[in-house]
Amino acid sequence: MNICEEVKDAGTIGISGHIRPDGDCVGSVMGLYLYLKKACPGARVEVFLEKPADIFSCIRSVQEIHTDFTTDIESFDVFFSLDTAKNRLGEAEKYFDGAKKKINIDHHISNKGCGDVNYIDSKASSTSELIYNGIDKAMLDEEIAKALYIGIIHDTGVFQYSNTAPSTLRAAAELTSYGFDFSKLIDETFYEKSYVQNQILGRALLESIMFMDGKCVVSMIDRKTMKFYRAVPQDLEGIVSQLRNTRGVECAIFMYQTDTLEYKVSLRSNGKVNVAEIASFFGGGGHVRAAGVTMPGTFYDIINNLSARIEIQLKESEKNVSRNS
Ligand code: 5GP
Ligand code: MN
Repeated sequence: MNICEEVKDAGTIGISGHIRPDGDCVGSVMGLYLYLKKACPGARVEVFLEKPADIFSCIRSVQEIHTDFTTDIESFDVFFSLDTAKNRLGEAEKYFDGAKKKINIDHHISNKGCGDVNYIDSKASSTSELIYNGIDKAMLDEEIAKALYIGIIHDTGVFQYSNTAPSTLRAAAELTSYGFDFSKLIDETFYEKSYVQNQILGRALLESIMFMDGKCVVSMIDRKTMKFYRAVPQDLEGIVSQLRNTRGVECAIFMYQTDTLEYKVSLRSNGKVNVAEIASFFGGGGHVRAAGVTMPGTFYDIINNLSARIEIQLKESEKNVSRNS
């Protein structure tokens, strides 16, 4: 995709990403915003997103995000949905629906494309890498590079996950040549945790339960505990990755309570289980090794429902192994 080609002649351009924005969502949205403001000086560019976590305040112009989702523009000439299909745009969905031209850029395998123009590549490490591919490199600068780099490191777990391809590393190498302090950026946006985040991580690990002969591990934080630690959902990021690091585990589940009988579930796999398929089955989505869904029921209802699907997949993968040996 040539992003400049797609927006040429547009007087108003809007950009948004998914609810509860993560690093790739904030990085790709802000990278595209900074780029379009520079590449299309005649256009009015507006960006809508739920308030990003404080760690992302190092990105230029994050304070320009319309976190209240208001604007006087009635219908955008072009509207971008990044890192998600339109169903998780939250309050920005109405702007996407009302736009004259809708563009969807994403790397989630569960997204079939919801725009007039779609750039969906489930093999890409991140939406930020797709934005990097779509921009005119002559327009790149330190601030755009920094935003996209943050997106890439967050979705690849600092180039560790299997979605890291040679093209990802080439893009990252090019981005680091713009001179920002990437080492500090990785530390401050990815590894550094607040005291509360570490406490709640410890608590989740302590209370985790192994099941299915140690192939699965699950942990849950309820609303009472979140209140006790004064934790917000963003403080729980990374817990599920640590659960997945348990030796022998094929599938890790972490959930936190969002209502009396509702939980936000995060699923991570080490390869044998396709968690995108499981999350999609229950109305969520994501990637083969990292996916999420909001589910109704008690903690035990949800575990029972998920276990049944995980078991089917583990049996399938064992069958395939014995067939191939
Ligand atoms: P996380 O577990 O960190 O919230 O999300 C893991 C991956 O699954 C991310 O790429 C995220 O965008 C996606 N994901 C999480 N929750 C949902 C959901 O409810 N629906 C969809 N379609 N994708 C989700
Ligand atoms: Mn992403």
